[in-house]
Amino acid sequence: MPRDDLRERYMAADRAHTQHRANCTTCQAGTACVIEKRLDERLARLQNAYLNRLRKSH
Ligand SMILES: [Zn+2]
Repeated sequence: MPRDDLRERYMAADRAHTQHRANCTTCQAGTACVIEKRLDERLARLQNAYLNRLRKSH
């Protein structure tokens, strides 16, 4: 089975996002910082691509 690159990137983005929020005092105070916004955008994009592909394969 070929390596699922899209799924791995999605999972990695999800991990990075979770880890950032766990460590960033700005985000914990309720304000999304610049890094958070970037990670969030990336995660949303990969999530869309991943879910779109799931839908198409059924
Ligand atoms: Zn942050």
